Amino acid sequence: AASFGIESALKELGLKDINEGTSTGSNNFSNGDIIESYSPVDGKLIGKVKATTKEDYNIVMQTATSAFKTWRTMPAPQRGEIVRQFGEKLREKKEALGKLVSYEMGKSYQEGLGEVQEMIDICDFAVGLSRQLHGLTMHSERPGHRMYEQYHPLGVVGIISAFNFPVAVWAWNTALAWICGDVCVWKPSEKTPMCGVACQNIAAEVFAANNLPEGICNLINGDYKVGEMMTKDTRIPLVSATGSTRMGKIVAKEVAGRLGKSLLELGGNNAIIVTPDADIKMTVIGAVFGAVGTAGQRCTSTRRLIIHDSIYDKVKDAVISAYNQLRIGNPLDENNHVGPIIDKDAVKMYQDALDKVVKEGGNIVVEGGVLEGEGYESGCYVKPAIAEAKNSFEIVQHETFAPILYLLKYSGGVENALEMQNGVAQGLSSAIMTNNLREAEHFLSVQGSDCGIANVNIGTSGAEIGGAFGGEKETGGGRESGSDAWKVYMRRQTNTINYTTELPLAQGIKFNL
Ligand code: NAD
Repeated sequence: AASFGIESALKELGLKDINEGTSTGSNNFSNGDIIESYSPVDGKLIGKVKATTKEDYNIVMQTATSAFKTWRTMPAPQRGEIVRQFGEKLREKKEALGKLVSYEMGKSYQEGLGEVQEMIDICDFAVGLSRQLHGLTMHSERPGHRMYEQYHPLGVVGIISAFNFPVAVWAWNTALAWICGDVCVWKPSEKTPMCGVACQNIAAEVFAANNLPEGICNLINGDYKVGEMMTKDTRIPLVSATGSTRMGKIVAKEVAGRLGKSLLELGGNNAIIVTPDADIKMTVIGAVFGAVGTAGQRCTSTRRLIIHDSIYDKVKDAVISAYNQLRIGNPLDENNHVGPIIDKDAVKMYQDALDKVVKEGGNIVVEGGVLEGEGYESGCYVKPAIAEAKNSFEIVQHETFAPILYLLKYSGGVENALEMQNGVAQGLSSAIMTNNLREAEHFLSVQGSDCGIANVNIGTSGAEIGGAFGGEKETGGGRESGSDAWKVYMRRQTNTINYTTELPLAQGIKFNL
């Protein structure tokens, strides 16, 4: 069977096996339990890493803390130059890393390449930003005084990431944190450890080539227990965590308990509103890609289609006919649209969700099921399914991380659709399909979508690097990537300077000695 060049990709990325898993740069050491990474594509073992022990972790933290002292004194544009070189290395390794992402996570090779492209894009963004870490100047109320603010780095930034974007989410955080002068400790998902080691190897090469100390970029590995070492650690002023709402609630509490800062990027339950004025062809493309892309395992995946009753049957039929054309299979084969989901636990959750929607009174219009036979040996390939449902169903209120799309019907004005769209606990991404200006503006207004991302005439997934990314409510409130998201990686300091020989007090207070 075709191996799609996986062996050579692993070699190019310097993946050696076993001893990797904890690293302060090019210096690999690991003494914990073995984590095996199996591919959902073919069920084969990709490699093994060792988990980070408490002792390993302390070495990492000491090295990181000491590297911060050097890194923070380097001018930000020079730090930007290092990030520029990192972006160049990613360009060189784009195919190999994209292939590994596809093979270890299961998304299509095209999406794997897209994920590496996001890493490159955030590097470019960060390079420009390294000359724009602006603060404001203010007019002092006192004569002969100057007041301004500046941003200083925070220190060691902890990054906890999810399996579904095994490399890009790290880069979103790390590229910004680095230009801000922070050093990073990253714990990737235990489901995608090889992606973590591959990224660490690429970054370590750049730091070493510039004679920078070990510890600016650090990798730790393991499950939630290793993540907890960071959430409990007062040496880490900011923990950026991406994953489920369940995880985020624990991390938020732990970090807040020591008055640290957390940046949370959690689950979504994203909807597209389809109004009578929608372009049906665009709606179908947006909805189908949004629902089945990455096999429904994006935080921004389309989970709900809220369709006006006047066009409900038309949209439903068009979406069903598009689903009938989907090819499910090896994601490295560019002829396939949908790859596997991450593991058998995820398959079980998918099956349970389909059972549940039927039990709650839903009507399956595109059957689901687990695929068997040649090419599907991993047991992780499932059929994208569609169910007609009600927004109030418990299962519809819940984020199932699999390709299940719910069709919901609304009548009357767009405000009724918005009530449904906002009537869930999550608030990540949202979209409306309409050519009606009033509907579009209402959707974007204060009475409109309550999500961090609100799109008109595009789907819910596929955000660009230039905007701030994140969502409200149970999505966690964090913002990453573009706009002024960099500010969360820095501490703000207000400075007042007196250049007179007098000492006037603020608020006109007199204090005569
Ligand atoms: P998960 O919550 O199971 O795990 C995410 C990470 O958190 C892993 O590295 C895990 O080891 C770690 N973790 C879990 N419990 C922890 C704890 N108590 N303390 C410290 N670390 C802990 O999520 P997953 O299954 O890998 O990813 C899927 C979820 O991620 C979905 O809900 C998806 O919507 C969400 N997600 C959100 C975004 C976003 O930007 N909003 C992006 C990607 C994924």
